[in-house]
Amino acid sequence: MRRPYVCGNWKLWGTRAEALEYCETLLGLLEGERAVDVGLCVPFTALDTVVGALEGQDVRVAAQNMYSEDSGAFTGEVSAPMLLELGVDSVVLGHSERREHFGETDAALRAKVPKALKAGLAPILCVGETEDERESGDTERKLRQQVGEALSDVPSERLSELTLAYEPIWAIGTGKTATPEQAQEAMAFVRALVGDRSRDAAEQVRVLYGGSVKPENAAEIMAQPDVDGALVGGASLDPEGFAQIVAAAGS
Ligand code: PEP
Repeated sequence: MRRPYVCGNWKLWGTRAEALEYCETLLGLLEGERAVDVGLCVPFTALDTVVGALEGQDVRVAAQNMYSEDSGAFTGEVSAPMLLELGVDSVVLGHSERREHFGETDAALRAKVPKALKAGLAPILCVGETEDERESGDTERKLRQQVGEALSDVPSERLSELTLAYEPIWAIGTGKTATPEQAQEAMAFVRALVGDRSRDAAEQVRVLYGGSVKPENAAEIMAQPDVDGALVGGASLDPEGFAQIVAAAGS
């Protein structure tokens, strides 16, 4: 059995003061014993605040990006050792907003994913198709390309440590959600792609759904057999709503 995982992605939100207030509110809402892993993807500047606020609380803290080199002439970038020093334990890689607005490529992810793993950060790799790609029957080709390239330099015995997030681009921040059937079909395919490398890893790897998850639709999507949880953007900014999604994952 894979343990459900619900991760909130704050995107570009959260001064340190806002982050601290959020964490205090969220901790008051989460039940003590959880059957679900919970995480927050936090802007770089608030990471140390959130790590401190959540100390000992069994909530994972992820950065929203990372560079594949440790140091050098890469102005504006942040490396794995810098994140580890803050106590961060995971990193989101390949979010569609980074691919779309900041030129993140599959080739860059091919270096970043194994780098994160080697350094000791748990990668959450985001993949997903555009609306045009879905409508022209190109969803599987796109997923195969994204998963294939990003994982190509990850040793097979480490594949199970990854989290994959299937996030159809047409559903991110749009209020449109994939139907449970669409999510299941794509996520079973993503799992099968991992299975092409290692059947054991495919059984163990967690695949999250992302795209306009809200308290009202979370339970239905997460009830699908290949949906192991959710990456929640906009709705995670409301700690009450986020706590409800966490509760839905554990029910
Ligand atoms: C995300 O940021 O990964 C995401 C899925 O956003 P939203 O829930 O707002 O669609």
